Amino acid sequence: MRLLPLSLQFLIFIGIQLALSLGLVFYLGNLAQSNYDTFAEASRGFVETQKTIEDIRSDYAVVAARVESETAAFSPGERRDVTELSSELKQIAATARNSVALSSLRENQPEAIQGFASAVDHQAASLIAASQEVPAADERRVAHIQERLAEERAAVMTAGFGRLIDAANRELESTMRAIRSANSAVIGNYQMILIVFVALQALLLAVVLWLVNRQIRQLADVTERIVAGEATTTGKQHKRHDQLGRIARAVHQFRSSVVALSNSREQLQAILKKHDKESLSRRQAEDSLRLTASVFDEVQEAVLVTDVQGYVTRANPAAEKLLDLNASDLGKRPLLEILLAQPARVVAPIWRHVLEKGEWRSEIEFTRESDGKALVALVSIRLVGEPREKRGHVIVVINDHTDIRAREREIISLAREDVVTGLLNRGFFVQQVDDRIHAQPEQPFAMIAVGLDRFTSFNEALGRRFGDRILKAMAERLEKLTEPASLLARIDGDTFGFLVFAENASDLDAIAAQAMKRCQAEITRELELAGYRLDIRASVTSADYPDEGKNAEDLLRIIDNGLSQAKASGGNAIVGHAEGHTQAAQRRFELTQALGKALGNREMRVYYQPQVALGTGATLGFEALMRWRYRGEWISPNEFIPLAEEHNLIGELTEWALSHACRRIADWQRQAGQELTISINLPPQLLLLDKIDQQLEGLARSADLPTSSVVLEITESDFGKDPSLLVEQLHRLAMRGFSIAIDDFGTGHSSLAYLNSLPISKLKIDKRFVDDIVTSEDARKLFGSILAMAEQLEFEIVVEGVETEQQLVELRKFGSRLQVQGFVFSRPFDEDYWDGEFMHGKPGNYPVPNIQPQRSPTQTAGN
Ligand code: C2E
Ligand code: CA
Ligand code: CA
Repeated sequence: MRLLPLSLQFLIFIGIQLALSLGLVFYLGNLAQSNYDTFAEASRGFVETQKTIEDIRSDYAVVAARVESETAAFSPGERRDVTELSSELKQIAATARNSVALSSLRENQPEAIQGFASAVDHQAASLIAASQEVPAADERRVAHIQERLAEERAAVMTAGFGRLIDAANRELESTMRAIRSANSAVIGNYQMILIVFVALQALLLAVVLWLVNRQIRQLADVTERIVAGEATTTGKQHKRHDQLGRIARAVHQFRSSVVALSNSREQLQAILKKHDKESLSRRQAEDSLRLTASVFDEVQEAVLVTDVQGYVTRANPAAEKLLDLNASDLGKRPLLEILLAQPARVVAPIWRHVLEKGEWRSEIEFTRESDGKALVALVSIRLVGEPREKRGHVIVVINDHTDIRAREREIISLAREDVVTGLLNRGFFVQQVDDRIHAQPEQPFAMIAVGLDRFTSFNEALGRRFGDRILKAMAERLEKLTEPASLLARIDGDTFGFLVFAENASDLDAIAAQAMKRCQAEITRELELAGYRLDIRASVTSADYPDEGKNAEDLLRIIDNGLSQAKASGGNAIVGHAEGHTQAAQRRFELTQALGKALGNREMRVYYQPQVALGTGATLGFEALMRWRYRGEWISPNEFIPLAEEHNLIGELTEWALSHACRRIADWQRQAGQELTISINLPPQLLLLDKIDQQLEGLARSADLPTSSVVLEITESDFGKDPSLLVEQLHRLAMRGFSIAIDDFGTGHSSLAYLNSLPISKLKIDKRFVDDIVTSEDARKLFGSILAMAEQLEFEIVVEGVETEQQLVELRKFGSRLQVQGFVFSRPFDEDYWDGEFMHGKPGNYPVPNIQPQRSPTQTAGN
């Protein structure tokens, strides 16, 4: 409802008041007028009636006087004409009957008029009759007639007129009564109207008061709410054009200014806050700039910034040092020309690649101009900004890989070589044989092994160094017998191995038999060494590819078998196919059958071997190692794991071992109240399985163990198979929180620089690198090199197969960060054993040598 302005409301109020009063006055006036009219009319009628009656009376009196004189003249015998007088009398009667002035009297009291008129008529008639009688009447009679006539006149004069006047009076009286009653009705109406008028007035006043009050209340409400800060919109009042509107507008304005004030206070606060923030972020930016600058100056990597043409604009100290050029020399030619020492036309395509793709990365070899030193470096180039507008920067990071590569070469050569004889070592031999099978799977060959009999007795009698010299001499003899392609290697402490080839499989037996014979003859030739004449005996055996084994390890197992048979039968023998090989094949077959049922028969166990921090002796975690008890015999995992892999049984075995071990370790974590890791061997087939990451995560989760407690051990040699898929899988596993460890590190042939780009957190250095660490300086040097590199790449390091205190002491000299897994601390034991240990508190706080590190890995590696 739109409200009217207050003043208009008052105007309307007064208007209604006026109208009511005027109406009242008008009505009352009308009423009085009609009253007066009625009264006037009544009195006029009365006067007229009176006058008419008077007229009639005076007419009658005149006529009556003439009648009197006429009648007085009556005398007997005399005829007198009275017709005129009689008709005059009749005229008077007719006047009374017909006069307009007497009409209301005639209407209301007809008998009065009628009585009078009839009396007059009667008189007229008597007069006529008397005049006719007189002539014949006597005196007396005449006198009598005269008397009767006089009586009749007197009767009309008194009674007739008296009745008329009475009637007129009565008429007047009734009129006056009517007027009186009309008056009293008017008075009644007048009171009624006054009451209604007063009631209306009161109602109107009430309505007006209510309206005004309501509006003022609304205004007050709004004002209160505004003051309380609740109202956000204004009322209707502010649209009005009266005082209320003004008040409303004033309040509204007040409100707006209050709101504006508080808004501007908020704005001010926001501005202040923003200002604070800006100055904070500026300070932070300055800090981070300073930090960046100091990082830029301090990092070991060479970092250079060039413009989009490739000219150096900034270089950090490491860059100046690496390239041996100062900043101004660096700015003279495009950086790539300096690095690659190639003319612009060779460098240009690379630079174009940088500008188009935004980055370029490659390991390059280059010669430093100042001193001609050959360097290897990983160059990573990244474009920042928009090159098309000739703006932007190019950031070049140069990682000096010279040392890593040199050490890698050193390790590779050392890791391939047997340190005692200079022949290939077992690991490299296995790898080479497998590579060969992979490259020429159709080419048959025989693996021949020569085992020295009773060699340990030489070692014990003459000392280890002497034993090493015997081995070296034997190696030299065998080298003369074999070609380089035969991969002559020392495959065990006292055993050598090599390959012989034949064009066709049918020739192989003969060729192998001949080689074995020559071999034995050559080895058993008398040896003169340091004044001793030594009679050395040897057993020889062989295994054929592909008939007896599909890979190096299979063939080596057959050979081990053959040699132990030869030794069992007294040694110095040649063991050919017929004697042992079928037995080996038989056993493999039997084991394979049994392995399929091993889980169902509850023949499998998981053993746990602790991994110990060399610095503190604390147990950090365990490796889970499978055991198989078959018909009372413990079968080595080295034997059944390859079988399981070959016959697709490894999946279920691993799954079983993993869930078993995860549950155990979760229990032990709870009991010990500390984080313990569980390391699981993950064979390559499983690693390549689709969704293996989900499966493993599921297994860990159902054992209630976080994936971060699980370390997956993979072997380096796995990388040969399908590196790209493997890398992808490793990233998936790492994304799920698993740690990845490289097992048997140093026995494969992957590049350390390559490992750096994988999500790997641990290296397990193979047993063979610590075997000779106490006795051989070369072995220590090799170990130092591996360690230096692993530390440079920030891997955790576990040293495997540590058996003696002396080894531990040697290792401790390389620092306290190493972890050790070996018999020196604990053999692998089953869960019952460890359950017992954990029941008695935290197990495996092992004593460790308490010495200061004497050499850092880098020092050792460098020289
Ligand atoms: P690995 O993964 O390199 O395991 C370490 C092996 O070194 C274990 O042999 C362990 O008993 C042995 N060892 C530990 N400390 C010493 C020591 O001080 N001296 C010596 N001489 N040996 C030590 P194990 O348990 O016989 O296992 C042999 C291999 O079989 C393992 O080598 C691993 O490749 C495989 N293997 C064992 N359990 C499993 C398993 O559950 N799954 C898979 N896929 N492979 C397994
Ligand atoms: Ca392992
Ligand atoms: Ca290992």
